[in-house]
Amino acid sequence: MFQAFFKTNSLIFAPMNQEDHLKKIIAHSKEYGYIFPSSDIYDGLSAVYDYGQHGAVLKNNIKDFWWKSMVDMNTNIVGIDSAIFMHPKIWKASGHVDQFNDPMIDNKDSKKRYRVDTLIEEKIEQYKRKGKDEKAAKLQESMDALLKEDDFVGLKELIEEHGIVDVFSGSKNWTDIKQFNLMFSTNWGSTGTDDELVYLRPETAQGIFVNYNNVMKSGRMKIPFGIAQIGKAFRNEIVARQFIFRMREFEQMEMQYFVRPGEEMKWYDHWKEKRMKWHLALGTPREKLKFHDHVKLAHYANAAVDIEFEFPMGFRELEGIHSRTDFDLTQHQEFSGKKLQYFDPELEKNYVPYVVETSIGLDRMFLSIISQAYQEEKLEDGSERVVMKIPVEIAPVKVAVLPLIRKDGLPEKALEIFDKLKYDYSCHYEEKDSIGKRYRRQDAIGTPYCITIDHDTMEDNTVTIRHRDSMKQDRVSVEALEKEMADKLDLKNLLTKI
Ligand code: ATP
Repeated sequence: MFQAFFKTNSLIFAPMNQEDHLKKIIAHSKEYGYIFPSSDIYDGLSAVYDYGQHGAVLKNNIKDFWWKSMVDMNTNIVGIDSAIFMHPKIWKASGHVDQFNDPMIDNKDSKKRYRVDTLIEEKIEQYKRKGKDEKAAKLQESMDALLKEDDFVGLKELIEEHGIVDVFSGSKNWTDIKQFNLMFSTNWGSTGTDDELVYLRPETAQGIFVNYNNVMKSGRMKIPFGIAQIGKAFRNEIVARQFIFRMREFEQMEMQYFVRPGEEMKWYDHWKEKRMKWHLALGTPREKLKFHDHVKLAHYANAAVDIEFEFPMGFRELEGIHSRTDFDLTQHQEFSGKKLQYFDPELEKNYVPYVVETSIGLDRMFLSIISQAYQEEKLEDGSERVVMKIPVEIAPVKVAVLPLIRKDGLPEKALEIFDKLKYDYSCHYEEKDSIGKRYRRQDAIGTPYCITIDHDTMEDNTVTIRHRDSMKQDRVSVEALEKEMADKLDLKNLLTKI
């Protein structure tokens, strides 16, 4: 399992290639209760995943960090929770019925369908892996130019010119490129006619736009102000691979910031910087993140940038920051017949606000965290460990309470300590197996602190705190334990960095 290693401090790390890295994360996630394939006993449902006992908690902790940083830390941002089902006219107004399409191409031999940009991007990554950076850059440039022009003939020629083959059949037998709508629909009511067609929302943003008046009036909001929301979104993704990076059912954390027309670029820059700081606060190294300006702007945007993260399969979009102009509110005004305006007392006039949006996929954020956290280490004594170095403040299990042995009153003492800490932190209590085995298991789960109760504890009321990352051990008194944990685990440690 561990082959070649490099050394830093007292630990030796095993480098992994990209494919191995993703495979190992997938296997580890299943083994330790982070992520399971949906409907596993029925062999899974493609591009749908379930979060297990630790995954669900980590996901909630990420949500909590985002929500607090957006809603609680800003006087002018509030959060809502709108329904997944919405009036079908909303998707006509937003442009999703007519324009939420991706150019697709089918392979005639394997009968598989691909999104054109992702198919070409895989080739670009392949060139990069082989050190052909110039060729990769040229292909990227040609693809961007052709996508901007919706030049489907040119894109097909590009696929042929670079000899792109279908991974399943190895064939170059491609169809022409066609547009494909990504929305899921279902029937509303009992008759099942097309009149009763409703969509599963493909983004949470529209739930915010259609509540603009409600929130503005009930919250007495003054521009600039924001509305945030976390919720499920659904897209009939065609290239639905790469684990939780591209799912058909996923979660978004979005914030729409309503501003004065003409001031949108100022706020766009503001949110670009703020969002980058949010990622850095979690300890993600700057070189693993980059801004990527959109070449082809969506129909609603006058500026757009992605924050890309270096996932195991290369740099990919993690979050989007979009200046959406007044497109959405104006469209909803027109389609609903209701005014969606703001009276600006300083300017003494009414206008439709402009919108700057920040939109991040919760599942992609989850993948970015676990892919950075997963590490294989060979220790100086020759043993090996797998450790999940999740930022301690959002780790799913914060503290493991472990009696050294199962007798002499140690379990009772350990449970006493567990009962003290359980109100503030998610704690594990475990007494089975040797202490070494239990430490390894907690490392694999990503528990930052193990508290061990031994015979000295019974004498002097002190315990050992073992640190996940350094494996160092400190001795502290039981009285000091709560304060010690509070200092280390407070989410404020992260929030004050933004
Ligand atoms: P991509 O180009 O990768 O399909 P997008 O540009 O269509 O993404 P947006 O519409 O900007 O994505 O959605 C905002 C965020 O939602 C993305 O930055 C991403 O993190 C997340 N997201 C979008 N589609 C998916 C998906 N199928 N699975 C998981 N997360 C997604």
